[in-house]
Amino acid sequence: MLSGERPAECDYCWNTEDTSDRFSDRVFKSGESWSWPFKEEIFSSDWRDDYNPKYVEVSFSNVCNFKCSYCGPAFSTKWMEEVKEYGGYETSNHIFNDLSTLEYEKKMPISINDNNPYIDAFWKWWPELYEDLHTFRITGGEPLLDKNTWIILDYIIEHPNPNKELKFAINSNLSVSDKLIDKLIEKINKIEDENRVKEFIIFTSVDTWGKQAEYIRYGLNFNKFWDNVNKILDKCPRIIITIMSTYNAMSVPNYNKLISEIYTLKDYYGSSDRYWNSAVFLDTSYLRYPQHQSVRILTDDFSQKVLNQTKLMFYYSTPSFDNREIGYSDIEVQKVKRIYDWMKSPKDDIESKNNRIGFSRFIQEHDRRRGLNFAEFFPEMIDFYESCKKIK
Ligand code: SF4
Repeated sequence: MLSGERPAECDYCWNTEDTSDRFSDRVFKSGESWSWPFKEEIFSSDWRDDYNPKYVEVSFSNVCNFKCSYCGPAFSTKWMEEVKEYGGYETSNHIFNDLSTLEYEKKMPISINDNNPYIDAFWKWWPELYEDLHTFRITGGEPLLDKNTWIILDYIIEHPNPNKELKFAINSNLSVSDKLIDKLIEKINKIEDENRVKEFIIFTSVDTWGKQAEYIRYGLNFNKFWDNVNKILDKCPRIIITIMSTYNAMSVPNYNKLISEIYTLKDYYGSSDRYWNSAVFLDTSYLRYPQHQSVRILTDDFSQKVLNQTKLMFYYSTPSFDNREIGYSDIEVQKVKRIYDWMKSPKDDIESKNNRIGFSRFIQEHDRRRGLNFAEFFPEMIDFYESCKKIK
């Protein structure tokens, strides 16, 4: 970029900027509140200056013990094993999670066992970067299965002059061994007790309740996951957990249960001792890709459920529900509401038909490979699934 070139791996933003008048993520991110104090400094600096970013997210590897239905080999070694053995999934008009696409786009992940020059470069940069950082977030794969995550935690714990303004976050499926969860709790408490960061957030994910969540996120043991959420909130008095939901077609039947149970956590663990009053946040985003699993494939009768879930969020919202400000915030509520709006917005008939065909093909192959039976997990969706199978 310094020599006026566009690195190909930044194409996500280039595509947005070139093909529409919408803002790309790099513009959105720069407009977030954390960047405001640095705006003048950035504007007045020369474009050739070495300017350390204030907000950095890093994924050290694609090592993951899950293979969630909407994820893929770029982010999960379990997915990589599966597609190497069976290939991608034929849907209606393309092959989902096809390795040749990753190769063509030069997005094949570097194996954790191979030398990774990006990680070498990161560690060279890290001591200088750390001092200037406002927000640092480790994503994955599953970061708790990567040694670099633990090195970062120890670095913060052992630093003689820690960056106390740092907002630190780790993504985790919270479904690793008890030993690793206990080790994480120990490190969080050291960091919290010594005020070594400004804020510590665990971002975790689940897309609905119980067995249906296990079906969507293959590898998940829901009860164990929920126990781990409780364990961390119980043993770490300041930590915040944000539950990220990738709301998809299979979230619809029982998302209301997740909304209610997260409110129970908010009520039980909410405290002004924490970095935020509310111990838990629900961050609902909608699945756009793969399209065959998005809520837009569903028939209109499912939209009433989503509307009811929005109403439930309002019911548990703050400040009307109580005065402790631990209920759902307006942002949390609106993120569910926009799913309903998106679901009801006009659709292209041909696209809907293709995506429904894609859904039924994906589910049949998914069940065959993983020894599952969709009908047993989703009795509420059997009619819809059977109708998708019959589309020619
Ligand atoms: S836990 Fe995350 S990285 Fe792993 S398969 Fe699921 S979505 Fe992908």
